[in-house]
Amino acid sequence: MSYVRTPTEPYKTLTERMRHLAAGTKYDSCNQSAVCHAFAPDGRCIQLYKTLLTNYCSGECTYCPNRCERDIPRVSLSSDEIVKITWSFYRKNAVEGLFLSSGVIGDAENTSEKQLEVARKLRTQGFQGYIHMRLMPGIPKYLLEEIADVANKFGINAETTSNINYSEICPNFDYKNDVLQRLKWTKELIIKKRKEVEYGDRIIGANDTQFVVGAADESDQEIIHTVNRFMDKYDLRRPYFMSFDPVRGTPLEHNIPSPKWREVRLYQTSYLLKDYGLKAKDLDEIYTEKGFLKNEDPKVLLAQCNRDMFPIDINNATLQELLLVPGIGPVSASRIVQSRPVNNEQELVRMGVVITRARPYIKIRGLCQTNLSTFMEVCS
Ligand code: SF4
Repeated sequence: MSYVRTPTEPYKTLTERMRHLAAGTKYDSCNQSAVCHAFAPDGRCIQLYKTLLTNYCSGECTYCPNRCERDIPRVSLSSDEIVKITWSFYRKNAVEGLFLSSGVIGDAENTSEKQLEVARKLRTQGFQGYIHMRLMPGIPKYLLEEIADVANKFGINAETTSNINYSEICPNFDYKNDVLQRLKWTKELIIKKRKEVEYGDRIIGANDTQFVVGAADESDQEIIHTVNRFMDKYDLRRPYFMSFDPVRGTPLEHNIPSPKWREVRLYQTSYLLKDYGLKAKDLDEIYTEKGFLKNEDPKVLLAQCNRDMFPIDINNATLQELLLVPGIGPVSASRIVQSRPVNNEQELVRMGVVITRARPYIKIRGLCQTNLSTFMEVCS
């Protein structure tokens, strides 16, 4: 793609275009700076140069700053410009790779071809950094396969939980076909590529997706059940949540923003599925009547809903029971199981337990350190 200025587009310098395109990624995992953080498959947090190819878009998503009817400066970067900027940041050790998304230029096929062109140019020039592609809804399968040949990670945003919600906020696309079908193909391709790519060569990241929280009417309970379903069906590993924040000049400009804490509580709840082996139905008690999370630690809420099972004996509890104790995470739980018997709180602290949180829920050698009901009364 060569950068061609349209008659309506005033001249913009490279820096100005980079700034506009970083701002245009408002709803693409993390903030609007040109550098975003992502998780590599080995769990490391890495920095990527994040940009859109263009903020031109034929889509009309109701929450999006780039929707076609909005009156904003429209700019693009050519594939050569993105390649050059990525190399420049990479060589200075400012980033470990590229996160590339785009507005829809006509249709998904045309846009995906242009994204592919960037990734191919980088690889042809020997680029070994991380390439994360945010795919277009409705991307054709053959292009998804070609992107899987060059990218480390490729995923599609679900945005919401159902066909009805999706058609309200993303009226140009079809949830079942353009999103869910692509999530399925992505899962299959990740499995295939992980078998093909030799160890030490290109690392293939897991399936991920993103929800814009609060743009549609879905509850937190619906979001968590959808995440669970995606984990089971599409091997989803990492859901991202972005709080809805109304943008001037969009149909949702007068809607109430979603509080940031909602995003945080959704992440914490999703970790209970991902890292603690719980199912969405195990968490049904922690929501309000309307299915929303409270601004409290979901693991503490879950423990309070199941107070009959506490205190548990640290030396007899199963791994799954230990995982339900606030202050005990997957690492400290397995350390406890491997090192039992535990004699005192100091040993638990050395294993990584946050003892002030865990204390009301545990017994050590048959002794409670504090009574749970008393503790909860003090805290309430
Ligand atoms: S397709 Fe929708 S979400 Fe994506 S850039 Fe266009 S308007 Fe925004």
